[in-house]
Amino acid sequence: MINFNVPPYTGKEMEYIAKAVANQKICGDGEFTKKCNEWMEKQTGTAKALLTTSCTHATELAAILADINPGDEVIMPAYTFVSTADAFVLRGATVVFVDIRPDTMNIDENLIEAAITEKTRAIVPVHYAGVSCEMDKIMEIADKYNLCVIEDAAQGIMATYKGKALGAIGDYGCYSFHETKNFSMGEGGAILIQDEAKIEEAEIVREKGTNRAKFFRGQIDKYTWVDKGSSYLPSDMNAAYLYAQLELAKEITAARLSVWNRYHEAFAELEAAGKITRPFVPEYCEHNAHMYYLKCKDLEERTRLIAFLKEQGVMAVFHYVPLHTAPAGEKFARFHGEDVYTTRESERLVRLPMYYGLKDDEVEYIISKVKEFYK
Ligand SMILES: *Cc1c(COP(=O)(O)O)cnc(C)c1O
Repeated sequence: MINFNVPPYTGKEMEYIAKAVANQKICGDGEFTKKCNEWMEKQTGTAKALLTTSCTHATELAAILADINPGDEVIMPAYTFVSTADAFVLRGATVVFVDIRPDTMNIDENLIEAAITEKTRAIVPVHYAGVSCEMDKIMEIADKYNLCVIEDAAQGIMATYKGKALGAIGDYGCYSFHETKNFSMGEGGAILIQDEAKIEEAEIVREKGTNRAKFFRGQIDKYTWVDKGSSYLPSDMNAAYLYAQLELAKEITAARLSVWNRYHEAFAELEAAGKITRPFVPEYCEHNAHMYYLKCKDLEERTRLIAFLKEQGVMAVFHYVPLHTAPAGEKFARFHGEDVYTTRESERLVRLPMYYGLKDDEVEYIISKVKEFYK
């Protein structure tokens, strides 16, 4: 059986976790949390990166920093994970979905402006599969209407748009280190903050509304409750697991890209024959091989392909039932304009196994079975 995903493991994780334990500092913001934060700041050029307990929590934190309040509207695609919307629903906002582009499965930047009302406060682009949204256009619209941009870059670490790191283009960026992502700490994430003036507030919200971060830096002599907040900092043991992978981020990304490129090359023929559609990466986007997907003719064919692959010992999966069709989506959101591509394209998409450590002969086996299905 070839699994769909196996969590990344490089070999140094246990040593670093032991070090975190030996440090006798297993709560948040210990040695490894700091190392991870610094690594992300250096890698992305953002003013501040802070590890969080998940990407969901990073997005919640961003929604608080963006001062999203009841009645506000937030624009995003409906083809995304629930957390993208939930973080804003928790603040009482109404989510406004717009259609996606069929080529990248990202929000259609040309539909955003028409969805803006006087209540709109933020745009949330989701960089699907680590392939960037059209950020120049999105930032231009945000500028024109004075909107906050919160990038859901859960899948976007180590990917770029015109040379800029995903997550470090908008006001805030959110990463995920869930076990299904390129780099993992089990459950975890990070927020990237572009505006230095927002760093102190972010530290306060992340630390239960206290100025504990300042206290630990010796800038004040006691810490206290200064604002609203929650607990968004992960244990240093989890950060230790993650750091072992961030150190090898280039190698892990290169290994994933090699699998991605092999799939892509192997399926060119099927695409040319009009049987499937392969992923599209605009030339100014450097992606991180977060996932490899194919698009079948329709839902019925996809169901048959997944069942066939399972019989052959290959776990392929689909995801994202569009949020506007879910019960909570009907309650908390509306779809602006017409759903031309969101539902149709999501029903065609199937993800093939992709993880660090997937072997060449396994990749060849998967390719041969997909080809056999289409024979
Ligand atoms: C994985 C993912 C999330 C959620 O990440 P968690 O760290 O599990 O909270 C949010 N958005 C997208 C697009 C994701 O892929």
